[in-house]
Amino acid sequence: MKKWIAFLMTAMMVAAAMACAPASDSSSKAEESSAAQESSAVEESAASEESSVSENEGASEFTTATEGVLTMATNAEFPPYEYYEGDTVTGIDVEIAQAIADKLGLTLQVEDMEFDSVISAVKGGKADIGMAGMTVTDERLEEVNFTESYATGVQVIIVTEDSDITSADDLFAEGANHTIGVQLTTTGDIYTTEDIEAAGLGTIDRYNKGADAVMALKNGKVDCVVIDNEPAKAFVAANEGLKILETEYVTEDYAIAVSKDNDALHAAVDAALQELIADGTVQSIIDKYITAE
Ligand code: GLN
Repeated sequence: MKKWIAFLMTAMMVAAAMACAPASDSSSKAEESSAAQESSAVEESAASEESSVSENEGASEFTTATEGVLTMATNAEFPPYEYYEGDTVTGIDVEIAQAIADKLGLTLQVEDMEFDSVISAVKGGKADIGMAGMTVTDERLEEVNFTESYATGVQVIIVTEDSDITSADDLFAEGANHTIGVQLTTTGDIYTTEDIEAAGLGTIDRYNKGADAVMALKNGKVDCVVIDNEPAKAFVAANEGLKILETEYVTEDYAIAVSKDNDALHAAVDAALQELIADGTVQSIIDKYITAE
């Protein structure tokens, strides 16, 4: 944020200095007109901060990993937020990212990687944004900045239809000793590691993909899977004999990760997202993929 404010202050000072500058003589016409152009561009940019990002031709005010491109790091194993349709990654996050890129005058490029790599790609500047149904956590906030939240996730528990686990409480009961499947480094992993493994109430089996954890459940290798509700619904729909328990584990907020070293981009992405939330675009994208119960 600081850099962004500093930029604006500099811009406004330059604009003010130009307004006060004495008219130059006819020999410097070219200089004069280019100075006038610069001055009006600067004023426009200062003014757009007060109004809205949609009038902001903002691309010049922030940098992206590749000029003119918004690179999104994701893990396309998380339906309906990001998943493959043929060779293309699609889903809620991709559509929201596309709408943000459109607002910022950038071309969207989606980079699929392990969930575990998304934060480091953003942190290291290889990707501009991380969108992967990613929950805001205190630990992640130490690594990256997050925008406003655009969706809510719920950690749920998937079991086999004949399971003796009937509620979340069964996992925390005295003497419990379940094997729990999770996707590596997700909040499902983080919470169950703290609440169950560290408490001596069970073992956590960590898989690279949520779908692999679900396969392990089908094959009897784990007793349940703790995972976000929307992919859980998709996995249960695609696999016979599984169900989602009614009791929820925890509710959380999804947001977009942006590097801490790129305050101007963070501000621009956040402003674009907030406009898309305010005008109903985000909700209409979510509604396309998730039908209300
Ligand atoms: N919401 C979970 C998290 O942020 C899972 C995200 C995912 O698997 N893509 O850890």
